[in-house]
Amino acid sequence: MDSRHPARARSGGTLHLVSNTGQENASADEARSFRRYPLWRVLCLNGLTVGHYFLGCAAILVAYRSYPLVGWPLGLAYLVFAVVQLYVLMPLVVCPGCVYRSVRDGRCPSGLNLISARLCPPSASAIEFRERTHGTLCQSSLCLWSWVLPAPLALPGLAVSFSWLAATLTATVTALTVIRLALVTKRAVCSHCLARRWCPVVRTRRAA
Ligand code: SF4
Repeated sequence: MDSRHPARARSGGTLHLVSNTGQENASADEARSFRRYPLWRVLCLNGLTVGHYFLGCAAILVAYRSYPLVGWPLGLAYLVFAVVQLYVLMPLVVCPGCVYRSVRDGRCPSGLNLISARLCPPSASAIEFRERTHGTLCQSSLCLWSWVLPAPLALPGLAVSFSWLAATLTATVTALTVIRLALVTKRAVCSHCLARRWCPVVRTRRAA
């Protein structure tokens, strides 16, 4: 694994993902990668993500509709957590070490490299990117929790005051999480991402 991708990318127009061994695989990978993701893909992915968060918040609010003093703080806390971990923490903590921060005119699947570029300088070591899966509260876990949390938060509310609307919202947000994990992320996002050769999330998935 070449951990010096940011410096390499800055040094020239062509980004060599690996050296010597595996060069052919790297070239094939690079050929199907997007240095600049099409805008429609970036907008669709962010629309799906923001929709997921609002759907999760709605499921919690409706599940606790008989107990608004519980439901509103819980729903809003979930929404704030989900938005902040993705649109503030991620660009500050993980993105500075990502190859997209070094590619000229690059645009990553979620466009967060552009937000990150406005918030902080790129990392020279890329260690933040490679360690994104390390630790209980690592960025990858937070991201996963932001997808998964609505169901366990809504279930107690459903148990004490059941409603079909709340049950449908909870089931929908759970199904959305499964679909995103099983299909969208793998096939539409990671498969064209220039950062996947270094991404610990992708490597963990391959090893599983
Ligand atoms: S691909 Fe991921 S880590 Fe890289 S800039 Fe985009 S959001 Fe950040």
